Amino acid sequence: MEDNIGNAALEGDVHYCAVHPERDTELRCNRCERYMCVDCAKRTPVGYTCRECVRGHENKFYQGTLIDYALVAAVSAIGGALTVFVTALAGGFLLIGFIIAPAIGGATAQIALQITGRRRGRHSDYVSAVALLLGGLAAAIFLTGTVGLFTLIFLALAASTSFARFKMTI
Ligand SMILES: [Zn+2]
Ligand SMILES: [Zn+2]
Repeated sequence: MEDNIGNAALEGDVHYCAVHPERDTELRCNRCERYMCVDCAKRTPVGYTCRECVRGHENKFYQGTLIDYALVAAVSAIGGALTVFVTALAGGFLLIGFIIAPAIGGATAQIALQITGRRRGRHSDYVSAVALLLGGLAAAIFLTGTVGLFTLIFLALAASTSFARFKMTI
């Protein structure tokens, strides 16, 4: 009788892999806490994780990154359009353009960084610079039907400032 109780207690302490019920294990996933065998466990910097959680994490990360790139692109395109608009307003006062364009580029990156927080992707710098250029070119063509030399210079200034601002924080 005592043996039975002992066995029962022992049975209760034996755990089996959620995927391989025939394998007993003491390993647990550090995310969903299910038991898993060595084959099912994936080593991560913060402990062992089951395959499903690793996959789920990757998917979430991937989707988050895509959304963040889209946000960065949208903000930067608006920044580019704004650069063209403001420098066009300044007209012949080119000096204003040389001051305003980098300021808008920097502010664009700042806003994009704020929106995406710490989840920003590795290529946000390129995404931002390209989107800013494209947004600016589209705005210039929409406004004047052409892209002037100074518009290009101002856009390049804004884009490179935005790029540098991202580089500093990624
Ligand atoms: Zn898990
Ligand atoms: Zn297993």
